[in-house]
Amino acid sequence: MSLQERDVVIVGAGLAGLSTAVFLALNGVQPLLVERNASTSVLPKARGQNPITMEAMRVAGVTDAIMAARPPGRPGITSKVSESMTGKVFYDHVAHRPDFSKFSPEVPGMASQARAEEALLRKALELGVEVWFECACETLVEDIDHVDLQLRRLPSDELTKVRSKYVVAADGIRGGIAAQLGIGSHGLGHLKSVTAVRFNADLSKWAGDNAMTIHYVKNPQLPDGSGILVSTDYTNQWVANFSADSAREIEATRALIRLLVGVPDLEFEIAGETTYNYSHRIADKLCTLRVFLTGDAAHVMPPTGGQGGNTAMQDGYYLGWKLAHVLKGLAGPALLQTYDAERKPYAEIVCTWQAANLAERRDMKNLAALTGEPIDHAKMMFGYVCLEGALVRDAADSVPTAADPFEDPARPTGSPGARVPYVTLYAAGVPMSTRGLLGQHFQIYTSDASFAEQAASMARELGLEQKVVVVDSVEPLGARRNQSVLVRPDGIVAWRGAASRSALSNAYRQILARQ
Ligand SMILES: Cc1cc2nc3c(=O)[nH]c(=O)nc-3n(C[C@H](O)[C@H](O)[C@H](O)COP(=O)(O)OP(=O)(O)OC[C@H]3O[C@@H](n4cnc5c(N)ncnc54)[C@H](O)[C@@H]3O)c2cc1C
Repeated sequence: MSLQERDVVIVGAGLAGLSTAVFLALNGVQPLLVERNASTSVLPKARGQNPITMEAMRVAGVTDAIMAARPPGRPGITSKVSESMTGKVFYDHVAHRPDFSKFSPEVPGMASQARAEEALLRKALELGVEVWFECACETLVEDIDHVDLQLRRLPSDELTKVRSKYVVAADGIRGGIAAQLGIGSHGLGHLKSVTAVRFNADLSKWAGDNAMTIHYVKNPQLPDGSGILVSTDYTNQWVANFSADSAREIEATRALIRLLVGVPDLEFEIAGETTYNYSHRIADKLCTLRVFLTGDAAHVMPPTGGQGGNTAMQDGYYLGWKLAHVLKGLAGPALLQTYDAERKPYAEIVCTWQAANLAERRDMKNLAALTGEPIDHAKMMFGYVCLEGALVRDAADSVPTAADPFEDPARPTGSPGARVPYVTLYAAGVPMSTRGLLGQHFQIYTSDASFAEQAASMARELGLEQKVVVVDSVEPLGARRNQSVLVRPDGIVAWRGAASRSALSNAYRQILARQ
């Protein structure tokens, strides 16, 4: 058996593993990415990228690929609760959705999971990431200063031992790494088993020509009174979802599809069928000293609301720079423990939000009693503030509460732990958007030109990638006039304080857990 050494091994080339690989590589760390399957996913699962994911994808350089992967049709979304696709509409999600353009310049992507994974894989390969398909991680043993993995190359059955400094467990809903580490989980557990049937039919005269269409259908004749009809990447291919029943015969399935569409004599062809379990489960902790759970390995949620794949992609964005800074000796290992502190509260919120959506859209009253009503969509997506983590607050900074770790996204505070406000700043009168300045570097905003020079020299001494903009005023960022603001490579405000070398030095020491 051969033995190899690596800095990071990522297990699983789904959205979480691929995203982490890209953000590590952008930071100069080349992980080994292993995937049991022969390719990335081909199943019609997640669809759509929210604006925060798209901000991360712009930093990763894959926005254009994701936008180009939009399914055929107009660049619009139909999402309705209705009696059937052709029947009475009870609620139009798009008509009631807040105007997200106030919170981010990015428009949502519409790529399917398969196309988004392809785009991320291409970028990872372009950045030099080593990817081993048909390679399963069989065992993983964590020690104080390394992790030993046993990998099996499936076509040849050859075993490879890899000793890695860190491991990212992106092994999905059925992955076994958390269990091997003894990490338990909690949550509402299994919620529903759903059969997804792919079928081919020309529904254009009822569906319109938006690139993404989803109907949450409520009809007492459907099993449990509800079902979902979703468009796919292919013209005239659809997926019908309804409660699973292993005894259901093909003619009964065909009748359910006709009910979902609302056309009793609809002609169509069934192309395939898969059964999924909808669950609500969050790992008790998202990391040990050397292993980090990302994506569905860390948080499993039903698909209602479309945040499972988004959260998986964002995990890579929030973890990649931290891991790279520690590996490059620019930060202390304690920085890595902030991944759990920052992401676990969000994982709890988003899993419960999706479960609450499921309860509401499919009339599951017992579940609704456990989840409560879904919290405001814009707040959930744009308003989360880290309670603690790689950030420094002073006495004047507002601190969110564990019961409500949010700010109003329409009134961003710019507080440490929040995402940098999406505002226009002026440098010598020239406008610039804070979102246009996002990248895998620390960003300083100051109106003090001499501090800008001090900050630049400090970054050189510390070996950090940092950019400084001298702006006419930092007040649009929520800071006081004489303060400077430090934003992390993942767009979270890390500190705001006096424009002095010693204050910035102290902030970096705490944020990066440097000795
Ligand atoms: C029907 C359905 C619809 C959905 N719709 C949406 C949606 O609209 N929007 C959205 O955002 N999300 C949606 N989701 C959720 C989304 O699909 C998941 O959240 C997403 O796939 C999670 O990505 P991941 O990378 O964490 O896991 P996965 O995609 O499951 O990837 C894990 C990978 O790890 C590999 N692996 C596992 N164990 C090993 C091992 N030991 N060795 C090597 N490789 C291993 C697996 O083969 C797999 O490729 C939906 C899910 C379903 C089921």
